Amino acid sequence: MPTPKKPAPQDADSAKTYTLLGADRSFYQSDTPGTLGGYRPRKIYGRLDCPSAIRAITRGGYVRHRVFFADEATAIAAGYRPCAACLREKYLLWKALPL
Ligand SMILES: [Zn+2]
Repeated sequence: MPTPKKPAPQDADSAKTYTLLGADRSFYQSDTPGTLGGYRPRKIYGRLDCPSAIRAITRGGYVRHRVFFADEATAIAAGYRPCAACLREKYLLWKALPL
């Protein structure tokens, strides 16, 4: 009986970097993936699994405008506001803020 092949070591994975948007709105490379997604033309940030973003991605034309943030503080510092679809409560709080 042949012994099952060992899976190849995932060296490529450990070396992977992610392009994230920083608080100063410039891109940088990170070892860890972002926790939030963003839509650049409208400066909205939201969850990675945001149903509204996924719908837009399915329609196409969205992906090239998509950015990623390490965390929420960075997204806010970069001037992005919460998504009304997936971050409803934060969005309402943001809307209530005097500008
Ligand atoms: Zn959303």
